[in-house]
Amino acid sequence: MYDVAIIGCGIIGAATAYELSRYDLKIAVLEKENDIADGTTKANSAIVHAGYDPEPGTAMARLNVLGNSMIEEIAKKLSVHYEKCGSLVLAFNEDDLHVIYRLYRQGVINGVPGIQVLNARQTLDMEPNLSTEIKGALYAPSGAIVNPWELCIAMADTAKRNGADFFLNSRVDRIERTGTAYRLYCGDKMYEAARVVNAAGLHSDDVHNLIADPEFRIIPSKGQYYLLDKSQGGLVSKVIFQCPSKVGKGVLVSPTVHGNLIVGPDAVEGTGDDDVSTTQAGLDFVRETAVRSVPGINFRESIRNFAGVRAQSERKDFIIEESKTARGFISLAGIKSPGLTSAPAIALECIKILQSTGVFLKKKENFIDERKKVNFKALSPDEKEALIEKNPLYGRVICRCETVTEGEIVDAIHSPITPRTVDAIKKRCNAGMGRCQGGFCGPRVQEILARELGLPLEEVLLNKQGTYILTGETKKGGVRQ
Ligand SMILES: Cc1cc2nc3c(=O)[nH]c(=O)nc-3n(C[C@H](O)[C@H](O)[C@H](O)COP(=O)(O)OP(=O)(O)OC[C@H]3O[C@@H](n4cnc5c(N)ncnc54)[C@H](O)[C@@H]3O)c2cc1C
Repeated sequence: MYDVAIIGCGIIGAATAYELSRYDLKIAVLEKENDIADGTTKANSAIVHAGYDPEPGTAMARLNVLGNSMIEEIAKKLSVHYEKCGSLVLAFNEDDLHVIYRLYRQGVINGVPGIQVLNARQTLDMEPNLSTEIKGALYAPSGAIVNPWELCIAMADTAKRNGADFFLNSRVDRIERTGTAYRLYCGDKMYEAARVVNAAGLHSDDVHNLIADPEFRIIPSKGQYYLLDKSQGGLVSKVIFQCPSKVGKGVLVSPTVHGNLIVGPDAVEGTGDDDVSTTQAGLDFVRETAVRSVPGINFRESIRNFAGVRAQSERKDFIIEESKTARGFISLAGIKSPGLTSAPAIALECIKILQSTGVFLKKKENFIDERKKVNFKALSPDEKEALIEKNPLYGRVICRCETVTEGEIVDAIHSPITPRTVDAIKKRCNAGMGRCQGGFCGPRVQEILARELGLPLEEVLLNKQGTYILTGETKKGGVRQ
């Protein structure tokens, strides 16, 4: 029997598994998809928020500021792309200036370090490509950018190296209470655990209601984006927000850790849980709003549009609590933005609740708290040469846009939580993330996956179950269309 079973492996499930794997506990993580970091965690703005936005006194305010400082440390230890670039909230008129002063005061109360209000000149000196219409800005030096799915995978991989068991393609569809434990059913498989952590994101209300009386409801809200080519990545060096509205933090313009420019999101309620389609109207709104901040963005350099869905609840705060009608069943739900930033701090909060329900926490003596990863592109010429001499696979560039080598792809395939799809490789080592979006390297990645995993080529999927790349009648040794 497991001590703790975690349902869902987005950033919240992964952070919980990582923090829990420091202790002598038997942990299971059950994820419905064929890879981790496949829900909201892979489609968001990728910002490590400074923490001036949430209302003082809320869990969001407290956990945002704590999470911000924890992510910096975790990213360093686990080789995750992270950059503390700072953020600005722009004011375009007197009303906006009032909002900025309110955010400043909130930031001070929430404990955001180094926050200050700048006038227009100071702001433009920092970011010359901003609109000259601005009247000033709120500057938060602790705002940062991160690779969200890499952070999730790094924490999950580390949890696995420290003994946690991960089960993919495992949708929890039935839960039973036994005398002292829970039975979690995934189709015909069953896992028994003394405590359960519900980190099922957009489905956390459904999962909760499998065993307990309804206590909250998730209201999905979609946000759409442009991802622009690296040619636009240098337009700004910080995360550029406009003043927040009732529906969120508004449309931002930000560099990404890979040197691209991300622009978005809008906020559309009433879409389905898993509706990640984009619409012309939504993208038009994003474009028109963004150029108010940075007029020179060239949207013809767009390389991808995508959408993510916020798991809002009817409560105004994160829901981090044990169910009133199912003891030992803890929900981490309604984790909308700044959920990515707060994830490691939410995990600590969850551990406190587990402890209060009687879970005995004994620290492991041999906890592994590091992750090494080759990033060929970032090495010096001498380092590259030495690496290729040791392993010639590092000398074969597979993804030309992002300079990802076969060595890095093979490393990814043999990492703790085995990636089995082309997009799972993209999440782990960036192959296919560039200008051509995998048009060139996709088939090569597919071949390498098939070779390394001993799979027939046609069984290597693009991403989710059923997303076959090669279809048609198969013949020994090849595919006939
Ligand atoms: C548009 C947008 C922009 C955002 N920008 C930011 C930002 O810049 N900074 C920030 O801090 N936050 C941001 N957020 C919020 C952040 O992305 C989320 O808070 C975070 O990703 C939530 O993670 P999660 O693990 O709860 O959910 P998810 O990543 O969705 O993970 C839940 C997992 O549970 C699995 N699951 C569901 N049901 C079951 C089941 N029955 N059995 C097994 N598994 C199941 C799913 O497959 C999924 O993998 C943004 C969100 C959106 C939508």
